[in-house]
Order: sequence, then C-alpha cells, then structure tokens
Amino acid sequence: MLIDFHTHTNASDGELAPAVLIARAREAGIAALAITDHDTLAGYHAAQTADLSGIELVPGVEISCVWGGTTIHVVGLGFDPAAPAMVAILQRLTLARNERAVKISERLGARNIPGALEGAQAIAGDSQIGRPHFAQWMVAQGHVSSMNSAFDKYLGQGKIGDVKTFWPTLESAVTTIVESGGMAILAHPLKYKFTRMKLNALCQDFKALGGVALEILNGRQTDDETARLKQLAGQCGLQASAGSDFHRDWQYGAALGVEAAIAGDMPAVWETLL
Ligand code: AMP
Ligand code: MN
Ligand code: MN
Ligand code: MN
Repeated sequence: MLIDFHTHTNASDGELAPAVLIARAREAGIAALAITDHDTLAGYHAAQTADLSGIELVPGVEISCVWGGTTIHVVGLGFDPAAPAMVAILQRLTLARNERAVKISERLGARNIPGALEGAQAIAGDSQIGRPHFAQWMVAQGHVSSMNSAFDKYLGQGKIGDVKTFWPTLESAVTTIVESGGMAILAHPLKYKFTRMKLNALCQDFKALGGVALEILNGRQTDDETARLKQLAGQCGLQASAGSDFHRDWQYGAALGVEAAIAGDMPAVWETLL
C-alpha cells in the first residue's frame, strides 16, 4: 500500500494546486494522502471540492514551532479541522509569518538587499508566505544563483533570515494537535542537524509532551538513515510515520508516495488513521 503523510501545495510553499496534487497522487496509486502545508489548512479545505475518488484524504498540517532555540516542524494528522484550538494557533501562525516576513526583509535590507518584502509577497500571492518565497525572489533578482545558495547564505538555519521569534513552543504545537483530536508527528528529525544526544533529548521531550510518532522517512534518504530513525523511534516509544515532503518536481526531490511496508513490524500511524 502506498501512502504519503507529508506533502505541500501552493497554499504554502508547494507548486501544485491541491486538486492537481490529488490527481497526481491518484496516478501514483496512493491510497491515503495528507496535505501538510506550513501552518495553514487552506490547501486541505480547497481539496474538498476536488475529485477525491479512490483516495483517503487525512486532515494534515505542518506546524512551525521552536525548541531549545531551533525551529522544529511538527506534523499534525487526523485532527478535527474545525477544532477551535487548531483554528486559533493557525491564525496566530499566519500573523507570525507575516510579522516574520517584515523582519526577514529588514535584515536583508541591512545587507544591501532592499525590497525583499514586496518581492516575496508578490511571489507568495495568497499563499502562506515563507522563506522559499524570499529565496525565489533573491534568485530572480540575481542576488544569489540558486534557492540553495539563498538558504546557505541568508535564510537557512542560523543565518540572518532564520527568524524564529514568532513561533509557538513545541509544547504549544503538540498540545494543540492533541487537543484537536489528532496525532503529533516529529517531522524530518535528521534535518535539524542535531548531535545524537540532542536529537534524543528532543524525541524524549516530544514524547513526554504527547507526541506519538516520528518520520522514519522524509523525502529522499539513505537506508542507513531510515534504520537510524527506526531505532530512535523505538528508543523513545514513538510510532512510525512517513512522507515524501513533496513540494514540486525536482531532480533531487522524492516522488509522491511511500510504501507502508517501510515501517516493517514497527507500529505506524496509518494503522490508527486508516
Ligand atoms: P519557512 O517555512 O518559511 O520557515 O521555510 C522553510 C522551508 O524552506 C522548508 O519547508 C523547505 O520547503 C524550504 N527549504 C529549506 N531549506 C531549503 C533549501 N536549501 N533550498 C530550498 N528550499 C529550502
Ligand atoms: Mn516547505
Ligand atoms: Mn518541514
Ligand atoms: Mn514539509
């Protein structure tokens, strides 16, 4: 069975409209899908008018939060999309993203890159604004040669554009998902570039706060990484989740769909969700 519990649409920083993503998922033979846009359910709601035949669409979101000074992503699955706690945190996060965009622009301005706010806003349009929109604008303006270099030099973890002042805590993100009737999943644990000890501490904290799973697979990764993440999940008493983290067709990116058998004999969130 093919599933995919981590995907993006153009409601945040993905390229495809929700209906197009769902059509693509169907072509790929995916049985169950979650649209997990950054801090918004707009893509999930828009998908309700698409042809959903043959696909189980699970409510999803990827919440930005902060733990120990680092931005962490928590995926929520299977919650009530109308839950007041969820609606409220996403409203706050949209405001936070808009305030953050102003701050990022100020910081880029101080580095002789003026006009970034207007530029990124024009690219984002109605989508939830994020660093990728700044990166796209910086490439278009010739400030950097690629999105990657925009992140490496200005926007990535620890760089001037990595503004996390406005995010809720990890506790708040997890609690909101749980209160809304959903499962909280620690997204892409290896992307934070933590030491083993720190990653272990994050997983223990996450579990203690009410988190239920971690992504044993996110996008493209090696078998060694998957083995390491399965072991970590086991140590922390967390279940398995998995997804492509699809944003767009990209040479180095993962295609839609993950074989559910990847979890082996580990408990997996899809056993509860489906
Ligand atoms: P934000 O949600 O605004 O904090 O931006 C984070 C997003 O930027 C991630 O979800 C990725 O989609 C994207 N991203 C992170 N690193 C890179 C990179 N090196 N190149 C392109 N996109 C990236
Ligand atoms: Mn993204
Ligand atoms: Mn993420
Ligand atoms: Mn993602």
